Amino acid sequence: RKERFAEMRDRPAVTRDGVQIDLQMNAGLLVDLPQLDEAGAAGIGLFRTELQFMIASTMPRADDQQKLYQAVLDTAAGRPVTFRTLDVGGDKVLPYLAKISEENPALGYRAVRLSLDRPGLLRTQLRALLKAASGRELRFMVPMVSDCYEIHAVRDLVERELAHLKRFGYTPPSNLKFGAMLEVPSLLFQLDQIMPHLDFMSVGSNDLFQFFNAVDRGNPRVAARFSDLSPGFLRALKMIVDAGHRHDVPVTLCGEMAGRSVAALALIAIGFRSISMAPPSIGAVKAMILDLDVAKATAFIEEQLANPDPAADLLPMLVEFANAN
Ligand code: PEP
Ligand code: MG
Repeated sequence: RKERFAEMRDRPAVTRDGVQIDLQMNAGLLVDLPQLDEAGAAGIGLFRTELQFMIASTMPRADDQQKLYQAVLDTAAGRPVTFRTLDVGGDKVLPYLAKISEENPALGYRAVRLSLDRPGLLRTQLRALLKAASGRELRFMVPMVSDCYEIHAVRDLVERELAHLKRFGYTPPSNLKFGAMLEVPSLLFQLDQIMPHLDFMSVGSNDLFQFFNAVDRGNPRVAARFSDLSPGFLRALKMIVDAGHRHDVPVTLCGEMAGRSVAALALIAIGFRSISMAPPSIGAVKAMILDLDVAKATAFIEEQLANPDPAADLLPMLVEFANAN
């Protein structure tokens, strides 16, 4: 099996009916980078910048941040890297940042909410990113967006940092791609308003699943009752892909479900053409893709989603479909 994956590594992820799928990997530290070649990923679809902050005992300095981002871009050697701005708070606690006691940390002071409240933190990071990507493409996205105004607020900060850097003679990134993560269900109802302001959107299905079903993602007693292959959740994901098509905005997904072959099959069937996952999953997902007939899978899932009396979990049917085709 190992040899089969090694042989597959350099093959493009193209389905039997000729649909190219962009398979990217999730990362967070420099030590993850060799996996790009080992797993045969097309790029880094999610770089979790908070990891550098979480393993440090004091706040990483601006130049340490810049050094890391620069090293990541150097190692990726032209393959796209999507940096996520700080996603702290909630379950991701920084020991040196005043700990706030909250009854519901997942619903609390975290991610972009904290970043906009402490703009110094975000501006330092944005500046480090802009400098690290001097003269090359910079892709970055904002976590836990729940309203369009947050996107405008972050964009304002980016513009200010860019202006500042230009004033001091820095070469800006050759190309700036600005994205939002869809992790909060409120954005499902603002898709047509937010899409025109984005260069791409990335679905954080771990958090979206948690908020969609109102279940703590880390609590198996409740999380296990719900499937991310339920018709309701798949319809929500399809809404996002469809909005991306309407607005010509690329949509990708970087939650854990992308790394499970059957779930990845469902994602491709509802229209995703780009997904990002933990590196060890890429081999199995690519194997599934090489065997897949997208047109058939799409017809199958559409039939299931149109069923007036659907199963609560499409997993068994999808497994059956995958085995039969
Ligand atoms: C997600 O929520 O799906 C995601 C990719 O982000 P994280 O797991 O880091 O919250
Ligand atoms: Mg998340």
